[in-house]
Amino acid sequence: MKYLIVFLTLLISSILQSKERTANIPHYDLNLNYDPISRKINVSGVLTLPANYAIDNQLDIISLYFYKQLVIDSLVINGLFVDDYDTYSGDKYHMPHSSKFEIPISKEISSKIIRIEFSLSGAMGNLPPKSANVVSENWSELGLYYPWFPVNTEVIKHFTFSLNVAKVLGYEIFGLGTIKQLRDRIQISSSTPANDIIVCYSKKISHFMQKSNSTMLDIYYLTLNETIVEKIAGDILNIDKEYKRWFKISDKTKLTLLESLRQDGGGYGRLTGIVLSNLSGDDYQKFNNSYIKYFAHELAHIYWYKADSNSWEDWLNESLAEYCALMFIREFFGENVFSQIIQKKQVKSNNSPAIWNFDRANSNPEIIEIVLYNKGPLILMELESYIGHSNFKNFLEIVHSNNIKTTRDFIDELKKMFGEECAFWFIHNLNK
Ligand SMILES: [Zn+2]
Repeated sequence: MKYLIVFLTLLISSILQSKERTANIPHYDLNLNYDPISRKINVSGVLTLPANYAIDNQLDIISLYFYKQLVIDSLVINGLFVDDYDTYSGDKYHMPHSSKFEIPISKEISSKIIRIEFSLSGAMGNLPPKSANVVSENWSELGLYYPWFPVNTEVIKHFTFSLNVAKVLGYEIFGLGTIKQLRDRIQISSSTPANDIIVCYSKKISHFMQKSNSTMLDIYYLTLNETIVEKIAGDILNIDKEYKRWFKISDKTKLTLLESLRQDGGGYGRLTGIVLSNLSGDDYQKFNNSYIKYFAHELAHIYWYKADSNSWEDWLNESLAEYCALMFIREFFGENVFSQIIQKKQVKSNNSPAIWNFDRANSNPEIIEIVLYNKGPLILMELESYIGHSNFKNFLEIVHSNNIKTTRDFIDELKKMFGEECAFWFIHNLNK
């Protein structure tokens, strides 16, 4: 009896703990039915926002974006049918063919768990040329550029999800996340924070899996040869292992790498994995440093994603991800390769605007690139030499584990660990 009580107590506390872990971020439960030939699509599901999410994020209205050729068949909020909502033309540059609907959040529900139940249907048309999502008979890649499910990357930046995809005869279905093949459907899910839900449909695909002590890596590919895939897997697991050592992470995690069949639109990184496009095995060998730096930058975003990406605080996401990638390059390829990259960044960031209060929202992409990806990492390199290499690594680990998402808190932490003089010196650097 005593053992049974102990067992039950442990069971209940572990259930509570796992609920607590995921209950503080939004969650999607989705069903997807899509036919790559007719392009007809049906998406239904529930988006659950945790209690107080609306209050904490000062939301009195939530805008959700969806692909403009879809119609809302039903919308239910906390059990109540909503039929008088307006839809507008989307206004986000990364979702060029989108509509949005707005859900007012009343005082009564703002402190509660908010359940937005929806059903959308229609057909997927083409996005502008060179988009990183595409639909065609041979290759369909659905993600938030479409967006095929109601999404708002500013208000609901990170979420967990569980998606059931109806099988389609003659197609392989896969995506970023944990994939389970069930009898009549495929389940794609993520219990760790994700920032997109990518689903791909292809007539053929090859799958490669490799496990390290702490990470399971899936690679879906079609044109690459096995030797290259093994090399890519080794490189990715190497970076992942190193970061987990730096950030003292012992949890088992999951990563996915997809080779997209798109020729245009480029690759992109997400918290759940990486999508590559137009990659040849020869290029991977020839430009190995660049690919490893790219992977290292994207994988660093697993740690650096919490700051507001629409303001100058984005340097905390991008400059830290880029500098972690450079630190990895230094350990992997040595000081010379590192210095060459640093020199290029120094040339690029001459006469550039200061990071402090940088106008992230209204600057052109080249200036953003210079400030966040060139100047920011150089300032972090100066900080590393000011406080010393191992102090710097400890500091990064603390910034990450304390969930620091503003420059103010970053500087406070610097002051706490290394004193006021160091903090002032760093503020001065951010302003130069
Ligand atoms: Zn980045």
